[in-house]
Amino acid sequence: MSLRFKNRIALFNTAAAAITTLLVFIVLYLVVYYSAYRHLDSDLRMEQEEVFAGIHWKGDSLILELLPERLEKEHSQAEVSPVFLQVVDSKGQLVFRSANLQDDHLLFADSLTSEIFINVDFAGNKIRQGQFPIINDTGKLLGHLVVGISREESVIILSNLLLTLCLAFPLMLLVFYLATSWAASHGIAPVHKLIDATGMISDNNISTRIPLPSRRDEIHQLATTINELLDRIEKSLTREKQITADISHELRTPITSIRGTLEVLIRKAREPKQYEEKIEHVIGEVDSMTTIIDQLLQLSRLDAGNLTMSKTDIKLKELLLIIKERWSLRLNEKNIVLQIDIPEGVTVHADHGFLLIILENLVSNAIKYSQPSQPIDCFWNAGESMFMIRDHGIGIPQDQIPYLFDRFYRTDSSRSSQVQGNGLGLAIAKNLAGLLQITIGVSSQTGTGTTFSLQFPS
Ligand code: ADP
Repeated sequence: MSLRFKNRIALFNTAAAAITTLLVFIVLYLVVYYSAYRHLDSDLRMEQEEVFAGIHWKGDSLILELLPERLEKEHSQAEVSPVFLQVVDSKGQLVFRSANLQDDHLLFADSLTSEIFINVDFAGNKIRQGQFPIINDTGKLLGHLVVGISREESVIILSNLLLTLCLAFPLMLLVFYLATSWAASHGIAPVHKLIDATGMISDNNISTRIPLPSRRDEIHQLATTINELLDRIEKSLTREKQITADISHELRTPITSIRGTLEVLIRKAREPKQYEEKIEHVIGEVDSMTTIIDQLLQLSRLDAGNLTMSKTDIKLKELLLIIKERWSLRLNEKNIVLQIDIPEGVTVHADHGFLLIILENLVSNAIKYSQPSQPIDCFWNAGESMFMIRDHGIGIPQDQIPYLFDRFYRTDSSRSSQVQGNGLGLAIAKNLAGLLQITIGVSSQTGTGTTFSLQFPS
């Protein structure tokens, strides 16, 4: 059975109230019970004192002649609340009984040497009975006095109390359940509002936000958290849309170029040299599309988190020399010297393949965005375990630095320049660096140059 939330709250509260109330009722009943019987017991003791004043002994024999006549009289009359008296000797023989006992006698235990109080039913009466040992000066047990008084009144009070408590208990729980259920439904009304407001939000109106309640309570906190979640969803949806648009744009440009080139090519017969040139151009465009697709695949693998890495100690200078060799053609074309000012012994602990991609992106960017004939410097800051690469290129405006690592982001100047690129390299580098716990930093000045840094974990 699935209960509604407000009913569950009401049920839990009622269960807790039931346990508490039950305990209170039990304690209440016991207090009344014991005080009623303590009261009767003190009456019995008063009777005992009065009777004991009239009991004497000679040696081991009891002398009862001195029992006050008043007592005799009192106990012989039929009373509403009679007091029954009985004296037995040490052998259990009846020595005296009040006239109201007629031929009957009260129960007694002859082996007891201390007083006891018990409840008994006697001749249709509910009585409280006390048994008191009669002991002489030498400490010898001479007999017992048994006194009985009616406990009808206490029984009636106690049974009325029990009945009242038994009736009040379920009634009270019912009222409590209804009241808590009503209070709970009022209490969770803001949650229902929240559910309704959240239910209204879809992909089409994702920019809508839940109105915040005026009171700064948990509901306010929940609404704020949902709004923050919506912010993130909206951003990620916008980013997804932007990425899709960027991908189509990035792919459409080379495709349009290929189509245009091929259309021009088939319009009329051409010289073999011209065919060669155009086909080379088409191959270049296909290469650029392949690069984009490869990089997108790399990013999606990174997003899915299913890349495995194995870290080893890598000699940084050796790795940079390999990259330098790979880019030697471009370096020569632009007449750039790549200076690697890193001591031989510098090793970093990282995945070889991942680090190669990161460094290659930084080196290729430095070459792409450098002015011709300007050197590029690679150096190592041992104190901070930091690798740095500095170029003297076009630089990056300060306000655009925060977006550099976003997918497909290119600065305005690099977009307008002839430099080929798609804005994916740094996004990949940043993701891989994150996996290797490397922090990428950048500082730049437009027209002066840019320095990228990689801080390795120590
Ligand atoms: P791209 O393929 O466009 O180079 P990246 O992700 O590698 O893509 O770089 C993103 C953008 O950051 C580049 O388009 C460029 O605007 C800027 N950028 C990166 N490196 C440099 C640099 N060394 N100098 C100037 N701008 C740079």
